[in-house]
Amino acid sequence: MSRRRFYITTAIPYVNGDPHLGFALECVQADVLARHRRQRVERVRFLSGTDDNSLKNVEAAEAAGVPIAEFVNARAARFEALREPLGLSYDDFIRTSTDPRHRPAAERLWRACAAGGDLYERYYEGLYCTGCEAFLNQDELISGLCPEHHYQPEQVAERNWFFRLSRYEDELLELVGSGQLRIEPAQRRNEVLGFIRGGLEDFSISRSRERARGWGIPVPEDPSQVVYVWFDALANYISALGYGTGGERYREWWERSDERVHAIGKGIIRFHAVYWPAILLSAGEPLPTAIFVHDYLTVDGQKLSKSTGDTHDPVEIVDRYGTDALRWWFLRDVPRTGDADFREELLVVRANELADGLGNLVNRTITLVGRYRPQGVGTTQPRGGEAIALHAVINRTPREIDNALARFDFRAATASLWQLVDEANRFVATTRPWELAKGENSGDADAAADLDEVLHSLLLTCRLLARELQPFLPAASVRIAHALAKSDPQLGRRLFTKAVSRT
Ligand SMILES: [Zn+2]
Repeated sequence: MSRRRFYITTAIPYVNGDPHLGFALECVQADVLARHRRQRVERVRFLSGTDDNSLKNVEAAEAAGVPIAEFVNARAARFEALREPLGLSYDDFIRTSTDPRHRPAAERLWRACAAGGDLYERYYEGLYCTGCEAFLNQDELISGLCPEHHYQPEQVAERNWFFRLSRYEDELLELVGSGQLRIEPAQRRNEVLGFIRGGLEDFSISRSRERARGWGIPVPEDPSQVVYVWFDALANYISALGYGTGGERYREWWERSDERVHAIGKGIIRFHAVYWPAILLSAGEPLPTAIFVHDYLTVDGQKLSKSTGDTHDPVEIVDRYGTDALRWWFLRDVPRTGDADFREELLVVRANELADGLGNLVNRTITLVGRYRPQGVGTTQPRGGEAIALHAVINRTPREIDNALARFDFRAATASLWQLVDEANRFVATTRPWELAKGENSGDADAAADLDEVLHSLLLTCRLLARELQPFLPAASVRIAHALAKSDPQLGRRLFTKAVSRT
């Protein structure tokens, strides 16, 4: 029997600035999906990386007076260093300027599109936004400025290679409309359908070598041009699998994978849901199966963007509040659609919810078991109404998490976990195990059986929580499992620390 294969990627950010909270959100969301599938015994491959070859990086390096390669190396290292503070479990991290797997893949993809008759040369004049790394149409501008970056795009005139996107209009409409290429949430799919219906124009996929300051991948058979950074960057999803180097891994994780999922932010949806599938169609390769689009984060009501200089350092937040707190805020508060506002006091509320709700439940359970059943708890079928109700929640929680994550709904998944925590805390309050223990001491056999039932139900709940929390709070789930296994009240008390807001 072969296990299902699940391939998931994050977008690869430009490294011109520091990693910001929005990218941290995306990494954590992708990580939850990867860990959840691994837990459900699927085979999983999770990729992240950095986009080194953009013009933006060149400009940032020049502004800093540092050679490009040196600048990019130092910056990329900061993105790679998110792994530990965010608790990420990616299997691979690709850097498009230094990874030997990347260039051959971009070249192979280029040649495959050329062989498909989809590349041609043309003189072109247009408005280029370096922030977007894209040509913008006049009607996309707001008061002459890029709507995303708020500055005036540069007038560019040069000879470029073009990709025949117009040819794929009908095919893309069918693929996206039928859900064969699934775009979530539905509002984003509709946006893509609207964009395709508006008519697809061929797009430029090379830049002159001079304008790129010699940085980037030379166009095969035309070294006067470099490959446009988006064509180059999108290829990372398959170059990391050895598409250009004839790898078995490519066949295994792209051609034969059951699911190929890209997690991205809403600003780059067109590149992923239109350009990338068209390039793959042209090259005769399979498409992603799903694109999950998250909205943006604001911080204290301010837009968060590397390019505009406002960053909020995820590593600093983790230093102060811990990995659990930041992951839990992302997964518990950020809605599936609509922007979310990050404020430290909100994160503190979520951190303290963990300490008060979950930490307290596990701690109480360990203490009660240690006090009343130090030799172990007898297993019983639930008989009392309270216990039957709790067991019903226990039984449905894993399925609810599966369903929520299949919709990329992290908030629904964590809400389901939290409902179990709430139910179990209520269960302790209503069944009053300390009173049952008194009854047992005075020879009441029913009270003794009820106490077994209560403690057994609580242990079952905590064990399930330890397991089901693993994708969301990997480190905390290990601490909980360990404290339960050792039945150690000391460990039970130290599962979470209460947070105090600076503001
Ligand atoms: Zn822009």
